[in-house]
Amino acid sequence: MIEKTDSAASSAHSQGSDLHTASVTSRIDLAVHGAAGRMGRQLLAAIAERDDARLVGAADAPGQPSIGLDSSVLSGGHASGVKITDNAQSLIHEAGVIIDFTAPAVSLALLDATQGSQTRVVIGTTGFTREQLSRLKVHAQSRPMVFAANYSVGVTVTLSLLQQCATALGDDYDVEIIEAHHRHKVDAPSGTAIKMGEVVAQALGRDLSDCAVYGREGITGERDRKTIGFETIRAGDIIGDHTVLFAGNGERIEVTHKAIDRMSFARGAVRAAIWLALQPAGLYDMTHVLGLRS
Ligand code: NAD
Repeated sequence: MIEKTDSAASSAHSQGSDLHTASVTSRIDLAVHGAAGRMGRQLLAAIAERDDARLVGAADAPGQPSIGLDSSVLSGGHASGVKITDNAQSLIHEAGVIIDFTAPAVSLALLDATQGSQTRVVIGTTGFTREQLSRLKVHAQSRPMVFAANYSVGVTVTLSLLQQCATALGDDYDVEIIEAHHRHKVDAPSGTAIKMGEVVAQALGRDLSDCAVYGREGITGERDRKTIGFETIRAGDIIGDHTVLFAGNGERIEVTHKAIDRMSFARGAVRAAIWLALQPAGLYDMTHVLGLRS
C-alpha cells in the first residue's frame, strides 16, 4: 500500500502551488519477516531512518520472547506502535511490501502463504537448494519480487567489476573465491560468494555447477585450470568479507569487499522494497534496483 502524506501542505500552501506539489511525499508500507533476527533488527532501524517508508508489520517465529511487544524493543528508538506478531499471514493484509530475512524453508512458506495475493516481497534469505530456488522463481512469475544474495550497494558494484575482470582476463587467470563470516552463519559458501562465482563463470562461458570446487584436502592433484575454487572461513563476528582472486603468471588481481556494518545490507533491502512498490510482476535483483540494467 502506498500512502500519500501531505505533511508540508499547509506551510507550502502559503508559498505557492508549485512548492505545494513538490512537498507531497509518498510513504510505502513495509513489513519485516524475521524481525527479531540479526538482520531483522537492522531492517527495523533502516525503515525508521526513511521519510518515504513506514513500518506497518513485524513478525517472527512463535515462542520468540519479543512476540506481542512493540517493535522498538528490537531496534531501539521511539515506540513504533507496531506489535511483533507470530502470525505472518497478518503481514499480507497490512504491508505493500514484505521484507524477509529468515531461513529458506521459512521464506518459501511465506511465499506459499501469500500465493495469489500479489504481495510484493524482498527476499534476503540465503542458502536455498536448487529445488528451493526453482520454487522461489515460480512465485516471482505472478508477483513482484526482489531476490539478492547481498543487498549492499558496494557488493552490487563489485559484481559489475568482477564481470569486467573475468571478461578481460579470460581463461589465463585462475579464479579463487575466499569468504569469511561470523560463527553463527549456517550456510556455506555464502550466497554472495556463489553469486560472485556465477557472475565470473558466466563471463568465462562456464557453468558454475560444473566447475566449482568447494575446499581442498589431501592429494588433490594439480589445479584444473577451468575450475573456480571456494574457500570458507567461519570465525568471530565477521559480518562478511569476500575476495575474488584472479591469479595469472607473474601477477594477480584481488577484488575485495568487506562489510563492516549490517546496516549496509538493511539500507539496501529497504531501498529495494521502496523501488519494488511500483514494479510489475517479475524477478529482480539489486542491479535492477540501482538502475544498472533494465
Ligand atoms: P538470524 O538467525 O539472526 O535471524 C533469522 C530470524 O528468522 C530469527 O529471528 C528467527 O527467529 C526468524 N524465524 C525463524 N523461523 C521463523 C518463522 N517460522 N517465522 C518467522 N520468523 C522466523 O539470521 P540473520 O543473520 O538475520 O540472517 C537471516 C538470513 O539472511 C540468512 O539466510 C542470512 O544468510 C541472510 N542474509 C542475507 C543478506 C543479504 O544481503 N541478502 C545479508 C545478511 C544475511
